[in-house]
Amino acid sequence: MTPRRISVLGATGSVGQATLDLVSRAPEGAYQVVALTAHSNVDALAQLARTYRPEIAVIADPDLHGALKAALDGSGIAVAAGPEALVEAAERESDWVMAAIVGAAGLAPTMAALAPGRVVALANKECLVCSGDLFLARARAVGATVLPVDSEHNALFQALRSEHRASVEAVTLTASGGPFRTWTREQMAAARRSDALAHPVWSMGDKISIDSATLMNKGLEVIEACRLFDLRPDQVKVVVHPQSIIHGLVEYTDGSVLAQMGSPDMRIPIASALAWPDRMDTPAERLDLARIGRLDFEAPDEVRFPSLAVARSALLHGEGMTAALNAANEIAVEAFLKDRIGFLDMIGVVTESLDRIDRAETLPKQFSGIEEAIGTDTRSRVLASEMADRFAARRG
Ligand code: NAD
Ligand code: MG
Repeated sequence: MTPRRISVLGATGSVGQATLDLVSRAPEGAYQVVALTAHSNVDALAQLARTYRPEIAVIADPDLHGALKAALDGSGIAVAAGPEALVEAAERESDWVMAAIVGAAGLAPTMAALAPGRVVALANKECLVCSGDLFLARARAVGATVLPVDSEHNALFQALRSEHRASVEAVTLTASGGPFRTWTREQMAAARRSDALAHPVWSMGDKISIDSATLMNKGLEVIEACRLFDLRPDQVKVVVHPQSIIHGLVEYTDGSVLAQMGSPDMRIPIASALAWPDRMDTPAERLDLARIGRLDFEAPDEVRFPSLAVARSALLHGEGMTAALNAANEIAVEAFLKDRIGFLDMIGVVTESLDRIDRAETLPKQFSGIEEAIGTDTRSRVLASEMADRFAARRG
């Protein structure tokens, strides 16, 4: 058996590590790791590199080149650092790439991972929110296959039968509701970082955990779904489902609804992308519906969670606005994580930044190239940082 050559971008993160966990359980010789990358955690990257023996390990922060080199001294593993090295790692010859960098920082390497015949397993949803039309057009042009790893989108991917695409009426993304599902706005106003990071169901990186608490994550996912599956915004519905057992549903015009279910364990959607078009074994907990007993559903409360509507409105404006939204949200989340602004200030930073960028320039419906996307992303970050400073100052 020829080993499948795989690279993991964002190897030290929650999705990256879950991917490597599956690789470690596969039969000997099934996979050969080509490149592993991380942002700044040299020790974690070096440890993964020593375990998985990639050809190259890349640290995004150029100042950490020496530290990574020292940590992998004598290992025979090549070492590189900086944004260009990250792109080169993504381009390096392989069969399958896990794109699991968080945020628009992943845009250039994820784009670079698109190559003829290659499978790109896409966890980095911000890349689709920032410039998904551009990204997917490039994937089609080069002949790369993009497989969604986000659990809801992976569920839709599994339930969408290509021969029945014309008969799809709508899709539904489920949302756990996050840690503040039952909190009042007054309680949310006083929520601390640790409250927001305490996700009831999923264990994930900090950024997506905060997005789940505001429900911005679901807003980003509506945008992601429209772009991935070429759906109109009104065809993508959201339902809160606290147990997170059903991940996504596809409704056909005959009234049939196909859902994908499973324990809330990211190794299930990752495995589906890793083995695609086949299936592989995972140690994920098996679904025991009798033990779970009941599945609950409720409509999202758009008054307590305004970010869903903000994301939908950005989607109607087009790619320029969704790129601005994504960038402003990244800044807002970062300011909250640093305890500079309050929980409810995040949506204030986002909406006020979007108002300002909309007044200042004509945002394109579609980007013509990655430079244009990065330009909008950068300008939105500048505006959002100013807004975050104002909210921080008001807080005293
Ligand atoms: P994480 O914070 O745990 O890991 C992020 C990874 O990206 C790390 O390896 C980090 O080193 C790297 N990284 C961060 N900033 C970088 C930069 N500027 N340049 C290069 N590398 C950088 O995040 P995560 O929870 O694993 O999420 C990764 C992506 O997958 C996100 O886009 C998230 O929305 C998506 N996702 C995650 C989950 C989940 O269960 N964690 C589920 C669905 C989708
Ligand atoms: Mg998701």
